[in-house]
Amino acid sequence: MSNPVIPAADLVMEGSQIVSLRTAGVGETRGRVVDLSGRYVMPTLINPHVHIGYMRDGVGDPAHYSKDNVLDHLRRFAYYGVSVVQSLGTDREGTELDLRDQQRAGSLDDPELSTLLTAGTGLVAPTPGSSNGSARFATDVVNEVTDPDSARAVVRKLAADRVDVIKFWIDSRGGSKVKMPPAVYRAIIDQAHKERLRVIAHIYDLEDAKGVIRAGADGTAHLVRDPGHDDELISLLLERDAFVFTSLGIQRAAVVGPALLDDPFLAETVPDSARSFLRERMKTASTAQLGHLRRVYETLRREVAAFSSAGVRLVLSADTGVAAQFPGFAEHFELESMVDAGMRPLGAINSGTEQSARVLGIGRERGTLAPGKRADFLVLDADPLADIRNTRRIRDVYLGGHRLDRPAMRSTWTG
Ligand SMILES: [Zn+2]
Repeated sequence: MSNPVIPAADLVMEGSQIVSLRTAGVGETRGRVVDLSGRYVMPTLINPHVHIGYMRDGVGDPAHYSKDNVLDHLRRFAYYGVSVVQSLGTDREGTELDLRDQQRAGSLDDPELSTLLTAGTGLVAPTPGSSNGSARFATDVVNEVTDPDSARAVVRKLAADRVDVIKFWIDSRGGSKVKMPPAVYRAIIDQAHKERLRVIAHIYDLEDAKGVIRAGADGTAHLVRDPGHDDELISLLLERDAFVFTSLGIQRAAVVGPALLDDPFLAETVPDSARSFLRERMKTASTAQLGHLRRVYETLRREVAAFSSAGVRLVLSADTGVAAQFPGFAEHFELESMVDAGMRPLGAINSGTEQSARVLGIGRERGTLAPGKRADFLVLDADPLADIRNTRRIRDVYLGGHRLDRPAMRSTWTG
């Protein structure tokens, strides 16, 4: 693992690319120089797990979904130095696919937007007489599949739409939903690989995690809930070189509670009125609920510590757009949660930059600071390796060599 954080240097750019990182004032003379003396530089964050377009003022609802809201979220990610996000199965009316294509073709040429990748719509088993087990706000847009043939047909259709990844949900949502049978998810995984697409499985249970990894899924969208992992799962993950998305912050946010909303870093993009409303809503959790949330979070912490020391590929995932996972803020909160679970700051940053770029298949252009890579980086006032919360001490964000006008962006949200 290369050290992603470089103190006291100059970063030299040409166009949208990095030419070199040099000792201050020494070497390379062509290109534009960013003086980093007294500062720290790290690659921008890359989050392969978001559900965008639904959240407005902290409330996720299908009624809030619009193309403008998707664009607003991409702008919020950029503001916080999250340069690439992948929408994981909850797109509406092809909005994200269209935007991704426009970004790729250069017809949506806005340097203050995060780059979008997308799974389009995910696959899930129907629950007779009830909504299915996908994200609560998107049960009407996902693909319900009941047998291997219908599953293969959906995957073929998604591949024809040129999605970036295939996503399916398997868990029972606390026993309230029908689980997808193994024969169906095996067909999804097999067909996706025939189409040369990676597959990510939403799982919560240990046996489901083992089942999807045995069937060849490239990774899981979550850690295992109760009763937690076992050694066999670790062996399977290592053997198959499968990745695990951390998705810790969404659980930890519930444990932290309303105090999360007092964070000045969040207040930069979420106005007082919205945070007051949410504070009241978060206070309603009962003591029993809180106890349960804490126990689950402790299970996840232990799992991250065990996976991390065993060498399992942990990838930053913030499940952004769900619950209190605010675009851009959630990714920094995830880094903090990973360190809270026992990872070193260097490992957490690596899993949200180099590792997440690799999982998205964009590791050649992004994810590290090196000559020839895209000039996507954060300039920080303090060392994030000394304290992971220093990723929030943002002096500047550069995307493709463009320095974002963050004060102007901020004023559109919070005046
Ligand atoms: Zn998710």
